[in-house]
Amino acid sequence: MCGIIGRVGRDNAVPYILKGLECLEYRGYDSAGVAVFDEKGIIASSKTVGRLAGLREAAEKDKLNGFVGIGHTRWATHGGPSEDNAHPHFSHDRKFAIVHNGIIENSNELADTELEGVGYNSETDTEKVVHLLSKYYNGNVVETISKVISLLKGSYALGILCTDYPDTIFSTAMSSPMVAAKTADCGFICSDAGAISAYASEYYPVKNGEICVLNDKKIEFYGNDGQPIEKAAVKIEVGELTADKQGYEHYMMLEMLQQPNAVRDTILPLIKDNAICLGGVDITDDYIKNELREVVIVACGSAYHAGVVGKSLIESMGSIRASAEIASEFRYVDPLIDEHTLAVFISQSGETADTLAALRLAKQKGAKVLSIVNVSGSAIANESDNVIYTKAGREVAVATTKAYSAQLVALYALAIRLAKGNGKISSEEEKRMTHELAALPHKIQMTLDRNIEKAEIYAEQFANATDIYFIGRRLDYATALEASLKMKEISYIHSESYAAGELKHGTLSLIDPGVPVVALAADGEIFGKTYSNICEVMARGAEMLVVTTDKNKELIAEFENTFIVPDTLPQFTVSLQIVPLQLLSYYTAKKKGCDIDKPKNLAKSVTVE
Ligand code: GLU
Repeated sequence: MCGIIGRVGRDNAVPYILKGLECLEYRGYDSAGVAVFDEKGIIASSKTVGRLAGLREAAEKDKLNGFVGIGHTRWATHGGPSEDNAHPHFSHDRKFAIVHNGIIENSNELADTELEGVGYNSETDTEKVVHLLSKYYNGNVVETISKVISLLKGSYALGILCTDYPDTIFSTAMSSPMVAAKTADCGFICSDAGAISAYASEYYPVKNGEICVLNDKKIEFYGNDGQPIEKAAVKIEVGELTADKQGYEHYMMLEMLQQPNAVRDTILPLIKDNAICLGGVDITDDYIKNELREVVIVACGSAYHAGVVGKSLIESMGSIRASAEIASEFRYVDPLIDEHTLAVFISQSGETADTLAALRLAKQKGAKVLSIVNVSGSAIANESDNVIYTKAGREVAVATTKAYSAQLVALYALAIRLAKGNGKISSEEEKRMTHELAALPHKIQMTLDRNIEKAEIYAEQFANATDIYFIGRRLDYATALEASLKMKEISYIHSESYAAGELKHGTLSLIDPGVPVVALAADGEIFGKTYSNICEVMARGAEMLVVTTDKNKELIAEFENTFIVPDTLPQFTVSLQIVPLQLLSYYTAKKKGCDIDKPKNLAKSVTVE
């Protein structure tokens, strides 16, 4: 995870690196560091534990100044957050400095074999790499990098300085994002093109095993055999990463309020003439009817919860067998998939390491691959036969809101397309659904407007809870999964989601007087069943908060605390029900004084396995 930025130029690189790191802080933020060549060609550095404001102060105090430098914001994998473990790491002779994103899986083995007898200044896997560079250095840095990476197992993006080349930054990558860019008089390396889009209009992705050599005059690339290669530049299309919250206290609030736009921008391009049209996605009626036997949706975290909704709709609307799988499990269970499987991979960043590995496995097994991603040019998008882009725009808060909402509507579109192709819905039904989809952004806006104040009031009570339970049946249960994750990830309150019918098989024992229970009860068809479960927890003293739609609001008139969302088709209610619960998590976390945009121990794009 973590963010890397490097700059070569003819003025002080430090302010550019610090600004870039601010934009990249969403990727990891437990410590940070920067290193530059000083005027004597020595590599000077500043490091700090915690947030970037500290690094800014440290760099000022250390009077860090130089034309060429690299910076890093860390998400620890080996060794806790400490100044010693913060990057950059140095070889003992300080000839090399490196910053690293990812995990070196064989670092212990390398310490025992290649680096026997070498001492360390940190507990990181990264430090082993810098000592290997030192060990194998033969005057040619490209050859040395190529030798060292042949010894590494795992994932990495590396930014490297070597005192023999004080005008140059070297970089390489394996299963971790890294781009390089060159303008008239300066150059950048970076984990995310968005963080340099203020300075460069195009970039070169540094792909697996490639080595980039960058100075203020030229940019060169080499293959993993050390031979020069030609590469084509890619236009930077991502919006500029800024640290701008547009006046809101947190990105999460801004992003929740951007959900109507995110959903509209995602769904409108997928609707043409009252029908779903998935653009370049190669899914024909013939394929659906004659080749497709099952759909497997694979993802992690909230994207997995979107997948649970997708699975349910594909089965109920299209009568096609479907499953939702957690990527980190799927990839290790030798899944039963073949050329008759449509494998769907969902990831906001398009970098999620487990999802990417699962995608490669599905391809190997001959499945047709479709991904739903938010970032164009990302690894998952690049490796997929077919892509549906969510158009949520850049999401900075670690807890996803608008990207999840955009994933849901992309899945609705897919489910409708499959159901139509399988002859399970008529053109008339498709028309009704596409009209309702087009109305969803407006209904999300109504949901926000109606419930935002209530959410702040209810949060008062939730902030004092030690446990919170979310219950629901069918799609209401899928909403409960995501609502519970949102609550625990930002408020740090223990919370769980249960299929409402499961309570009596164990969970009821956890219900004590005063425990908050949120019941999702939009599903009119089985409202009565969910209502019975609500009665069961109330009989044990639970404090209820009930969420339902306008149509069912009379049914819950007896409850004091409610979120009522507009009516929509039953298939799409998750998109509305989740919104007040996102708001509730936000305000609960705020009342507890939590770091809402950057919850502890988490990072935005999970590029480690
Ligand atoms: N594995 C390295 C460490 O723990 C790099 C982690 C990162 O990507 O920030 O320091």
